[in-house]
Amino acid sequence: MKVIHTVKDLQAELQACKDKKMTIGLVPTMGALHAGHISLVNRSVAENMVTVVSVFVNPTQFNDKNDLLTYPRTLKEDCKLLEDNGVSYVFSPSEKEMYPEPDTRVFTYAPLDTVMEGKFRPGHFNGVCQIVSKLFSFVSPDKAYFGEKDFQQLAIVRKMASELFPNLTIVGCPIMREKDGMALSSRNARLTPQQRTEALTISKTLFASVEYSRSHSVSETYQFVVDGIAANSALKLEYFELVDGNTLQGFTNWEDTNYAVGCITVFVGEVRLIDNITYKKN
Ligand code: AMP
Repeated sequence: MKVIHTVKDLQAELQACKDKKMTIGLVPTMGALHAGHISLVNRSVAENMVTVVSVFVNPTQFNDKNDLLTYPRTLKEDCKLLEDNGVSYVFSPSEKEMYPEPDTRVFTYAPLDTVMEGKFRPGHFNGVCQIVSKLFSFVSPDKAYFGEKDFQQLAIVRKMASELFPNLTIVGCPIMREKDGMALSSRNARLTPQQRTEALTISKTLFASVEYSRSHSVSETYQFVVDGIAANSALKLEYFELVDGNTLQGFTNWEDTNYAVGCITVFVGEVRLIDNITYKKN
C-alpha cells in the first residue's frame, strides 16, 4: 500500500494502473476509520482491481468551526487498518493541495439539498460536492462507495454523479452498527461513556418505531420517535423526518411511497449524531 499526498503523484500512479486496464474503486473518507468505513473498503476491494481510499477532513463542508477543530484525526492507525484490508493507495492530501485556490463553485440540487441536513447545516452539501467532485476528477474511478449512514449525502452524490460523471457507478452501502445497535461514527469517539449509553436511545427508538409503524399512521410514527427522544433528557433532537428515500420529500400515508426512510439528527451534549432507518422498501 502506498500513502500519497499530492494530486500529481496520485495521478501518475493511477495512470499506470489505467494503462494496464485495471479497474479503480474510490472510497472517500474523513479518516478516524471504523468498521463502517471498512465495510465500504471491503466492498471496493472485492469489486475492483485497485482501491483508493482518500483521508481528508474537508474544511468546506463544516459550517461549525468547533466541529472541524475537534474532528478526530488518526492517520497512522487509519493506514494500518487500510493496509490490513487490502487497499492499494491512501490519498491523504493537505488543505493547500485540495484547495490551492478558494473553491467558488456552487452546487445546488434542490429539493434534495434544501431539506434536513441542508436546512440545519447551510453550505454543508456544497462543500461535500466540492470535495467529492475534485476526488472524482483526480481519481477518475470506475466505482465510488458511500454509506447509507449519510443518507442525504448519498442521494445528492448520486444526483451530482449522474449529471457530471455519467460513467461513474455510485455504490451505496448499508449502515454498520455496534452490537447494541448504535450506528458506527467517527464522532462516537467524542462521547463520554455516560453519553455513549444515553445515545443508544437513538437507535433503540428508531428500531422500536419500525415495529410501531406496522399498526400506526405516518404522523403517529413521527410522534413516537419525537417522544422517544424527548423522554431522554440527555438528548436534544435537531430533526426527525419521514421521507421518500429517492426524493427526500415527506409523505402523508405509507401507501404514498414505496421507499420510506426516517432520518434523524440528535445532539448528545456537543456531539451531533445522525442515523436513519428504513420502514419500507419495495
Ligand atoms: P466520513 O469519514 O464520516 O465522511 O464517512 C466516509 C464514508 O463512510 C461515508 O460514505 C459514510 O456514509 C460512510 N460511513 C460512515 N459511517 C458508516 C457506517 N456506520 N456504516 C456505513 N457507512 C458508514
